[in-house]
Amino acid sequence: MPQANAKLNAFPVFVRVEGETVAIVGGGEEALAKARLIGQSSAVLRIIAENAEPELLAFIAQFGASHVAAPYDASQLDGAVMVFAASGDETLDRQVAVDARHSGIPVNAVDRPELCDFFTPALVNRAPVAIAIGTEGAGPVLAQMLRGRIDQMLPPSLGSLATLAASLRGAAEKLLPRGNVRRRFWNSFFQGAPAHAVEAGQLSRAHDAAVDLLLSNAPACGHIALVGAGPGAEDLLTLRAHRLLMEADVIVHDALVPEAVVAMGRRDAERLPVGKRKGCHTKSQAEINALLVELGRQGKRVVRLKSGDPLVFGRAGEEMAALRDAGIAYEVVPGVTAAFAAAADFELPLTLRGVSSSMVFTTGHDLKGNSLPDWAKLAISGATVAVYMGRSVAAEVAGRLIEAGLSPDTAVAVVENASLANRRRFHGTLADLPSLEARGDLSGPVMTIIGDAVAGANFERSEPLAACRTASASVAAEGVQP
Ligand code: SAH
Repeated sequence: MPQANAKLNAFPVFVRVEGETVAIVGGGEEALAKARLIGQSSAVLRIIAENAEPELLAFIAQFGASHVAAPYDASQLDGAVMVFAASGDETLDRQVAVDARHSGIPVNAVDRPELCDFFTPALVNRAPVAIAIGTEGAGPVLAQMLRGRIDQMLPPSLGSLATLAASLRGAAEKLLPRGNVRRRFWNSFFQGAPAHAVEAGQLSRAHDAAVDLLLSNAPACGHIALVGAGPGAEDLLTLRAHRLLMEADVIVHDALVPEAVVAMGRRDAERLPVGKRKGCHTKSQAEINALLVELGRQGKRVVRLKSGDPLVFGRAGEEMAALRDAGIAYEVVPGVTAAFAAAADFELPLTLRGVSSSMVFTTGHDLKGNSLPDWAKLAISGATVAVYMGRSVAAEVAGRLIEAGLSPDTAVAVVENASLANRRRFHGTLADLPSLEARGDLSGPVMTIIGDAVAGANFERSEPLAACRTASASVAAEGVQP
């Protein structure tokens, strides 16, 4: 996803050139490079070069391009839909740019971005499919590198598959209702038997498979994927989560999942925020369960996107039970849970040989009663404790653990917005932990990790919690001064 403020200064479009003239002025290497690029299209090439080098002449002969072997003159550009000034001579290129613009023809001047109306991309060609890569001139090497990578990813048969698709488009539109059913057909077409047959070079089998698929027109059956979105950074999404997001008709997401992650879904997928965060319009869990069941009954492919891992404090259990009861198919896709992201941000070994060999995931909310939960004993015996939803119960957790016998000096690491660029890290001891409650400036989700293993973390980029304790204590003290 682009950074919020990153805008393109050159917007990519595909220009219709079939049977149209594209004029290239120049007789050397630059002109040849442009001729080869445009030669990948069905445009009619007009090369304007008084003195064309032998390689360019060979290209002209091979491609049947027209050659104007005369001194440059503005009238030679007449009727072209695009002009390239590629003479290598600055004065001439400038003149060509002025003339083209005067005639209303977009112009590209090689290596002179200030004279260009458009730029040519690095191109991955699987006609009729084209992938154009542009960097606004910032990195031609980068563009070529990306071109190479994308080229490797795409089977050479992609063009044939797209051509077959084009030949079936009319039939699909006639036979299949618009929306889910049609979309599902195309998904199966591009990923299923027809695609495999084309890849194997068996075009007629591919055609038959596509027709079968078209005629079977199976009634859509709904499917819900409970997907872990990870802790927030887009690139901590799994490949499977990404694929399902691309296939989903509907994305039902919690407020904790950042917009950038939701935006990785198909652009026209319906997006339903279901809140679960203070201040947001929130649906009750029962309403969410009912919504998922209803979408499944409508035959939708749904991604239920939850922060972190869906099975860790995600109330996935209730959603799965509702789906099971309703007989709706579902699957679970794990995600990187907040505790793991927090540990990574602190380079903190959650298990540490000789120090900690078990781990507790808790919310701390179960500390409210009088009896200590079992995990307090685990903490005392050295387990590493990850506290979810912890800021408001931090003091409670610390107090009760100390009461239960855990040393007040036990190391503690706290991170707000783990994995994200705006994360904030704090470190200290159990005794410092209550200061967290007074920190009104922590508005993002907060993960607290407690235990001796925490002492093995890297605190170079974190602030001491004790400083906050002193700061909040002195703020409080100032407040009562006359
Ligand atoms: N299923 C989620 C947890 C949901 S409960 C998971 O596996 O991570 C919500 C709590 O998770 C928050 O209150 C916070 O304690 C923690 N959390 C989620 N994302 C976080 C993040 N990026 N940084 C710190 N804590 C986070």
